[in-house]
Amino acid sequence: MEFALFCTKVNILILLLSLSAPYKFIQSPMDFGPLNLHQATKTASLDFGRILFNSPSAVLRPQSPQDISLLLSFLSASSFSRVTVAARGAGHSVHGQAQALDGIVIEMDSLPPSIEIHKKSEGEGELLSYADVSGGALWIELLRESLKLGLAPRSWTDYLYLTIGGTLSNGGISGQTFKHGPQISNVLQLEVVTGKGELVTCSPTTNTELFNAVLGGLGQFGIITKARILLQEAPEKVKWVRAFYDDFHTFTKDQEMLVSMPHLVDYVEGFIVLNEQSLHGSSIAFPAHMDFNPDFGTKASPKIYYCIEFAVHDYNMKGTNVEQVVEDVSRQMSYMPSCIYSVEVSYFDFLNRVRMEEMSLRGRGLWDVPHPWLNMFVPKSGITQFKDLLMDTISPDNFEGLILIYPLLRDKWGTNTSVVLPEAPRADRVMYVVGVLRSASPGSVHEIVRGHRRIAEAAGELVGAKQYLAHQPSPAKWRGHFGRRWDRFADRKSRFDPNCILSPGQGIFPRVY
Ligand code: FAD
Repeated sequence: MEFALFCTKVNILILLLSLSAPYKFIQSPMDFGPLNLHQATKTASLDFGRILFNSPSAVLRPQSPQDISLLLSFLSASSFSRVTVAARGAGHSVHGQAQALDGIVIEMDSLPPSIEIHKKSEGEGELLSYADVSGGALWIELLRESLKLGLAPRSWTDYLYLTIGGTLSNGGISGQTFKHGPQISNVLQLEVVTGKGELVTCSPTTNTELFNAVLGGLGQFGIITKARILLQEAPEKVKWVRAFYDDFHTFTKDQEMLVSMPHLVDYVEGFIVLNEQSLHGSSIAFPAHMDFNPDFGTKASPKIYYCIEFAVHDYNMKGTNVEQVVEDVSRQMSYMPSCIYSVEVSYFDFLNRVRMEEMSLRGRGLWDVPHPWLNMFVPKSGITQFKDLLMDTISPDNFEGLILIYPLLRDKWGTNTSVVLPEAPRADRVMYVVGVLRSASPGSVHEIVRGHRRIAEAAGELVGAKQYLAHQPSPAKWRGHFGRRWDRFADRKSRFDPNCILSPGQGIFPRVY
């Protein structure tokens, strides 16, 4: 077996050399030039947020789950070691969640790429189509492979250059979540290396506690080395519709109507139209023929609009009259007169839509900039109050980015996973996700982060909102975030990672040694 090791600190080097005695290094660590070494730890200290830059002492590029198991077994057994370990997927966190200050980062993309598709054939009864995928694989890679057999996962994120293990450690949501649940509700089985170094296969029926702990578990309980993802038949094309509103209540009422029609509608999202940029600068171009020239008011008295996006899948073989479905659905909506348009795109282009925006932003030097993002789950009862709270802090004329708002249905989320949702009365089936996805300059980013913290805390107190992809400044705040779910989360930690080795970048549990 071989794995590459990049190490800057002598103590970790000695520790890993003793660990890896039976291994052959691809290159001896001593042979690495300063550039390689520096580059490996620099990459591992970077993420999409560009807010925190915690540098590890070593970077491990495992060639198999057994490499990860050996490392964690060794660390958990050595009473003198204070070393922490973070799995790093695509590094698309925004607050250093995949970083490990002075610890070891495991680059998950070095696991051999493995995507095996099992397509259900006629007569296989209850058996479902699924894919067995490496935890370090990207969702775009799974999409490409599964489409070759006319299949695709049911539940997505908006952006596909994220890893399977990374999104399953959080939730994984997008416009399909109202219909199929988050990505963590679409997993049949996982292979996990726990913080104790045990390589375990778990599912809803085997090693259930570990399975539930890891889903939405913020990397705290184990490293996902393989996942079995549910697949469905993929449509060929998608009819993608946008409709505009000038009234928030009408906007949310229509969104809620759309998510009550899962038999007709396949995707529902929405966003706040703050300025000309958010009207035109998105992945489906605003058609030139549409007569929509909104008045955005003045700096002192801005006027904002709202846009619903919904989509209907077009399966060539099924003979659905997609145009008719879109017409029937649209007729029931109350958007501003004539302010609706649609395009037909391939299913692949629809799912991969944010890549087009990425390319455009990269071209303008606007991708590799700080991203102080805030994502909140908000109970339906508090969504207007939350929107007002948020808008009080935003100047539409200089806001760079996007504010997403769309409804999710609570009963599509399992109650035993580690995800934290707002508490709500049983009857309150709908909740919202609000994503404040902003770009900032290095000079303004920390002020924006502080502002987001104030909004998150106020929204927690006022309407019981909870952060998604949460960032908390202290273990005590994490307790508050988990609320009544804290005891179960802490119990699971003591069971699967008792020395608190894993995912130090989340800042939930201090290392035990
Ligand atoms: P990383 O940032 O590398 O890791 C995230 C956390 O998971 C860390 O704590 C890490 O230690 C842990 N981890 C990573 N891999 C594993 C593993 N194999 N096993 C166990 N723990 C692991 N999220 C949504 O839900 N919906 C969206 O639509 C969406 N859109 C996004 C768009 C963009 C442009 C970006 C940058 C992010 C978006 N996200 C979205 C957020 C994204 O899902 C999370 O940031 C996710 O963690 C990113 O995956 P990653 O592979 O980059 O994980």
